[in-house]
Amino acid sequence: MDLILLGPPGAGKGTQAKMLTEHFGIPQVATGDILRGAVQAGSALGLKAKGFMDAGLLVPDEVVIGIVRERLLQEDCRAGFILDGFPRTVAQADALQSNLAELGRRLDRVVSLTVDADALVERLTGRRTCRSCGRGFHLTFDPPMVAGRCDACGGELYQRDDDREETIRKRLTVYAQQTAPLIDYYRSAKLLVELDGMQAIPVVQEQVLSALQAG
Ligand code: ADP
Ligand code: ADP
Ligand code: ZN
Repeated sequence: MDLILLGPPGAGKGTQAKMLTEHFGIPQVATGDILRGAVQAGSALGLKAKGFMDAGLLVPDEVVIGIVRERLLQEDCRAGFILDGFPRTVAQADALQSNLAELGRRLDRVVSLTVDADALVERLTGRRTCRSCGRGFHLTFDPPMVAGRCDACGGELYQRDDDREETIRKRLTVYAQQTAPLIDYYRSAKLLVELDGMQAIPVVQEQVLSALQAG
């Protein structure tokens, strides 16, 4: 089960990916999480990525392509993976295809979540993320049981630096210009399943699962 979750910032990729990892027992590979981990660790990768992330811009293709290539070689990806936030450009999608081909693998499905721009802004401004496990919550739409604490691990919830309104607008523009073309890319490859991401989290979840179980 080699999957991509595609969609603009705030579409619900991370939320659905967490559910899918539990359901299928395959890892979520979220380039944003990997990059934030590197920034926090102060590694060379983190130093390189931070400026782009704070500005709402994409980290250069060669950097993220390398990260994903390494990650997919790890043992836990053998039975499958859920890519969340990668690919974000046509160059990344092409690189992924050739890396998978080298491993004798092929994508099974690309699930694209569609959400209105206004709803995206509302979701991202209200998003809170667990510092320890990366799980996402929403102040209104998916509140934690205890304010400020992660339901899954008890970790502290924080607001991402890039989930501020100006940076959100920039990320949405970058998505429209650089990532949205992947919808046609994967439609042409006959891998695309488009779902209405405006529905409530459990409804989207059910539709993602039934799309994956159908053939
Ligand atoms: P992405 O990974 O695509 O950026 P997230 O999964 O982090 O998106 O979701 C963004 C925010 O919206 C989070 O605060 C999450 O709790 C909330 N959210 C996710 N899916 C839905 C949904 N279907 N309806 C309402 N809010 C949602
Ligand atoms: P979102 O909630 O917008 O889906 P992510 O956590 O996936 O956010 O990404 C946060 C930031 O990390 C992006 O704005 C970008 O700077 C960087 N990033 C993540 N994935 C990629 C990628 N595939 N290519 C380039 N930059 C990336
Ligand atoms: Zn947590």
